[in-house]
Amino acid sequence: MGQMIEGRWDCTSCGKKMILGRYSHCPGCGKGRGTDVKFYVADPDAVVAADVPEKGPDWMCEYCQSYAPDSAGYCPNCGAPRSGKTYHEIQKEKEQAQTETVSAVPQRSAARKRSPIPFLILAAIAVFFLVSQMMPRSADARITAKAWQRDIAVQSYQWVDEADWYLPSGAVLTESRREIRDYEDVLDHYETRSRQVPEQYISGYSTEYRDMGNGYFQSYQVPQYANRYRTEYYDEAVYRQEPIYDTRYYYRIQRWVYGRTLTASGTDNEPYWPEAALDPETERENGRSEQYALRCEGDKGTYTANLTLERWLAFRVGDRVNLKVSSGGAVLDITKAK
Ligand SMILES: [Zn+2]
Ligand SMILES: [Zn+2]
Repeated sequence: MGQMIEGRWDCTSCGKKMILGRYSHCPGCGKGRGTDVKFYVADPDAVVAADVPEKGPDWMCEYCQSYAPDSAGYCPNCGAPRSGKTYHEIQKEKEQAQTETVSAVPQRSAARKRSPIPFLILAAIAVFFLVSQMMPRSADARITAKAWQRDIAVQSYQWVDEADWYLPSGAVLTESRREIRDYEDVLDHYETRSRQVPEQYISGYSTEYRDMGNGYFQSYQVPQYANRYRTEYYDEAVYRQEPIYDTRYYYRIQRWVYGRTLTASGTDNEPYWPEAALDPETERENGRSEQYALRCEGDKGTYTANLTLERWLAFRVGDRVNLKVSSGGAVLDITKAK
């Protein structure tokens, strides 16, 4: 527990300052302590015996508007029975009224934001420029050639060399060896390391005063915190890598691998699939592909249009066409000119 200290107050009637807390009336004008009174500490060494002051705060007489001590059941000033608020309740009301006044002060209006419209216009122009660069162009052209190509990929069943950590069924073992398959971390030793750890500590105490509401204050100590670093030591594990050995098998095995490509091509209007005898034991088909192209010559260049068979058949060499060409030169669309 702290110490009991005698506070001071100012008389709002005659303006006398630093009146000792023990006086309930102003020694200058004789006026009692009123609602305007607020106690303060002027001399921290003005220590009094703890039992000198009343424990409770003063109360405000509703009839004569002066403070009376907590122990009095009747107002010593006018004799009215105890009524009204305590010193602490009145101080709290005054504080609330003050904060409301502060928050009621209108905020100065923020500086007007700069209009974003010019930036939007610039951005729109940039986007328009980019899009117009990427927009497909149209071109007039004439078809000068037609070409088609059809491919069939063929796989063959062949003996190949492979290696693995197990021997597959059907494989013919060539040799096996002990080889490193993986590495594992093995604890080697520990090393002592240090690190800086932040911590909070009490660097001292400050004295604060609790207003008793009766002309006296009680002092108490408030710890002051500060930050510092301390060195902490710890052991860190150090690992080393050790190889794990296993048996690796080298073998020959029969696999389906790429064999050859059968191709048919032409410039006529009758494409067909290439034909070749496949050995049913050692060969199999592995996918087909087809391409149908038109060569178009225009004022600004030569273009190649790749179409589906159905559309490709509808065009003839010598046809005049309208092309839609991407910025990269690819033909996106082709229509006959009217
Ligand atoms: Zn006075
Ligand atoms: Zn009174």
